[in-house]
Amino acid sequence: MIDDGTMTPENSTETTERPADAPAESHAFQAEVSRLLHLMVHSVYSNKDIFLRELVSNAADACEKLRWRAIAEPALIGDGERFEIVIEADPAARRLTIADNGIGMDRDELVANLGTIARSGTKAFLDELSDGAQPSNLIGQFGVGFYSAFMVAARVRVTSRKAGSAEAWTWTSDGRGRFEIEPAALPGAPAHGTRVVLELLEDAATYAEEATIERIVREYSAHIPVPIAFATAGE
Ligand code: ADP
Ligand code: MG
Repeated sequence: MIDDGTMTPENSTETTERPADAPAESHAFQAEVSRLLHLMVHSVYSNKDIFLRELVSNAADACEKLRWRAIAEPALIGDGERFEIVIEADPAARRLTIADNGIGMDRDELVANLGTIARSGTKAFLDELSDGAQPSNLIGQFGVGFYSAFMVAARVRVTSRKAGSAEAWTWTSDGRGRFEIEPAALPGAPAHGTRVVLELLEDAATYAEEATIERIVREYSAHIPVPIAFATAGE
């Protein structure tokens, strides 16, 4: 596949602690990301609902990116395949899954995008904070992105397969300083795209209920350009 380089991480700040052939590698979050995560994990912000807006918007962005990329490379998308975001609630397991069939991330992109390269939004958010603003107000105001998942999740698992790639990778973290990267078995992975699984905190169990997530999506993600389907595990 043609690589235009736009998704390539600019640098590599790996701190691999295991031998290269070990199944899982541990990485430290970049310092600014760690600060942001600390705020998220300890957030007392009452409107935690916005985490779903952020994850749905990432899923939609990924679909738009692949839609665009597939103009030059139609083979990246299967025959008759349509873009979709699926949100699955599993109240018994206290788990919420957001899956998309967008462009996906390869191993290096998982490392860079979800931990080692601070987004411009992260930096702007932290700059505002150092000017004395309350984190609670800022979380609602800024798009703080993927990391807001840690307001509601004890553990986040992201399995992704980049369109055109034969590999899938899983990123896992509890948001407390480090994340793990390991190869994912393909049968469980989407053909391309990303699956974000939130193991919800005890006091965030409501986000494993379909009624709650449908309400939040109606409220915050009404204008998303990709269809969203809801499901409850086991039904
Ligand atoms: P932003 O969306 O503002 O760039 P986020 O923190 O929300 O910041 O996401 C960080 C990056 O991680 C995104 O820019 C994107 O490259 C990648 N990413 C996150 N979620 C997905 C997804 N579902 N599919 C593909 N890439 C994703
Ligand atoms: Mg985002």
